[in-house]
Amino acid sequence: MLCPECLSFLPAGAPQCPDCGLAPARAPDGWWHAYPPLRFLASQRNLPAILARRNLLGLRLPVDEAQCEGLRRGLLLTQLAGGSWNASLGWTVWRLYQLHLLGVNRHHPAVRRALAWIYARLDAHGEFHERDEVVNSYPTVMGEELAIAKRGVDLHGYALAHLLPLGLADEAPLRAAAEFLLARYPGGRRCCPRCTANLLAALALIPGEEARARGLSGLAWLASVQRDGAWRNRGGPLFYFILYALGEWPEAREQLERSLPLICRLRRPDGAWGHTQRAEKTLVVVEALARHGLLHEVARNSPRFLY
Ligand SMILES: [Zn+2]
Ligand SMILES: [Zn+2]
Repeated sequence: MLCPECLSFLPAGAPQCPDCGLAPARAPDGWWHAYPPLRFLASQRNLPAILARRNLLGLRLPVDEAQCEGLRRGLLLTQLAGGSWNASLGWTVWRLYQLHLLGVNRHHPAVRRALAWIYARLDAHGEFHERDEVVNSYPTVMGEELAIAKRGVDLHGYALAHLLPLGLADEAPLRAAAEFLLARYPGGRRCCPRCTANLLAALALIPGEEARARGLSGLAWLASVQRDGAWRNRGGPLFYFILYALGEWPEAREQLERSLPLICRLRRPDGAWGHTQRAEKTLVVVEALARHGLLHEVARNSPRFLY
């Protein structure tokens, strides 16, 4: 959650803020005291809003648990008998990630069935393939769908970025998939910033120096194409997508700093981000900035908002 004093990101269960030393006692007269622009989250019932309240404010509303139970049940009901969702690699990966966010762990029988289906799609080279029949448009963290290539580095980045959080890094098929990604991506330039986002998110989760070196090299390329704080997209889903990828990399702080004026311009009058899928976009921005200790800058530079 956010430190109410300096707006840095507190790791779960941290006894005190690593930046300002404050013990994270909750503000007595309202959880939104940590960062008032997040007040809009109080009226939202979807999963991203529940996650934003939990991750940013350490807050669970009384209705959240019933809502999560309904979402879990709904997801499990739509799983196909073979273990997949939509008979699609990308969609099955996404649904598993959602179940993980809803507290369903990797030992749950439905998760194991889905993983068996996914692992059967891995070829002898450690490469995933989407099925030819599937239209490759997948949901993303910023709330809009993106088309992602049916094989290769992009699909691997997407799959690993959403599967590794389940604690699967030690399972042989995912180790093979990670090796495929490292073998295919030598570091540096990519076809576009968008494709780099999934890749960086995945590399941040793959253990080892090799993955780290590739990630730093990808970050350096992103920095080289950054202009006026943007990576070819001033706002829109792709801009938020890059912010999400940079959040996990401490070395990305300078790039984020250069984006601050643009991030401030993209704020809505209430201080949050996005016209649509607001919880998703606000979660992405606030988390990325707070992880780098930069949220305070945005809060200070917001004359339109009564902070
Ligand atoms: Zn603090
Ligand atoms: Zn690309």
